Amino acid sequence: MTASAMTSTQPGEFRAAGTDLSERRRSGVSTGPLIDIAAAPDMIGMHWGADGSVRLGAFTTIAAIAADARLAAAYPGIAASAQGLATPQVRHLATLGGNLAQRSRCWYFRNPHIACLRKGGPDCPARSGNHLYHVAFDLGPCVAPHPSTMAAALLAYDAKVMTDQRSSLTIGELLGDGRNGGSDNALLPDEMIKSVELPSPLQAERALYKRAISRTHAEWPLVEACARAVVKDGTFQFVRLAAGGIAPVPLRLAAAEAALQGKDANAANIASAAEQATAGAKPLPMTGYKLDLLKGVVRDLLEEIAE
Ligand SMILES: Cc1cc2nc3c(=O)[nH]c(=O)nc-3n(C[C@H](O)[C@H](O)[C@H](O)COP(=O)(O)OP(=O)(O)OC[C@H]3O[C@@H](n4cnc5c(N)ncnc54)[C@H](O)[C@@H]3O)c2cc1C
Repeated sequence: MTASAMTSTQPGEFRAAGTDLSERRRSGVSTGPLIDIAAAPDMIGMHWGADGSVRLGAFTTIAAIAADARLAAAYPGIAASAQGLATPQVRHLATLGGNLAQRSRCWYFRNPHIACLRKGGPDCPARSGNHLYHVAFDLGPCVAPHPSTMAAALLAYDAKVMTDQRSSLTIGELLGDGRNGGSDNALLPDEMIKSVELPSPLQAERALYKRAISRTHAEWPLVEACARAVVKDGTFQFVRLAAGGIAPVPLRLAAAEAALQGKDANAANIASAAEQATAGAKPLPMTGYKLDLLKGVVRDLLEEIAE
């Protein structure tokens, strides 16, 4: 059934490429009616503005985003995030909209026999159970990290999300602030993401993406971050850091950004800013290790950018 054939009152879950949804259908975690999203012209591909900005259709695949040379030149952090995400097979199918709206990877959420907050249950079983891959910034009742790599990168770029019902949602408005344990995003039940807009990049900015992974769990990263910076005359003129895998929503690392603003781009300043990356962290008993990973990823990103 296509979206246009549904009435707005019918409950249903959108299906784009189904790489996330199919697994939940198979396990019985998702059981309601499906609404297949069609690749309408305004929902696929990249549409460049005269000012160098770009609009990415929500049905555009992650592989297309990863492979586009113009996008990589203008928005290297977006391209690198897409290149580092999942596997070639998944990237080939997965869509940008589906990536942003994918559901939690928490093993309790994915288990059809376990109730959890995300499924209307009374509490978060991961909090008192196995939360080895969960948050290190404990912001709300659910302790699963947000799974979207693209959301973290888009946060670093101040992207705006267009839906069929609202325009210009920030990533924060799309995903919430992490305090609502009952949902992975703030989309309305029948609200479809149509496109994502990236403002034109800054002059001479550089950007990179890095992830820390577990060798035994090489799927979603333990920690990931996207950094943008403008270094002029050896000084950080602009720094933007956004990280995923650490909180119920992707986070801006504002203290680390502030620590570098206007400072010399040297190893000592970068090391001290990386220490600030964990400002406000509140790890769970099993997730303290993520703080060291985060500091390391941020330091590596900034050192490479400043080279
Ligand atoms: C082995 C493996 C590793 C992975 N690693 C990563 C990783 O490192 N980082 C990462 O980010 N992801 C990772 N993924 C997840 C993958 O990126 C997502 O499954 C994929 O992006 C979902 O896109 P889709 O088009 O298949 O969405 P679907 O499965 O079709 O949909 C996913 C959800 O989004 C909703 N949805 C889809 N499109 C829209 C829309 N336009 N508007 C509103 N709602 C919509 C659907 O209703 C559904 O709830 C991994 C997946 C696998 C299998």
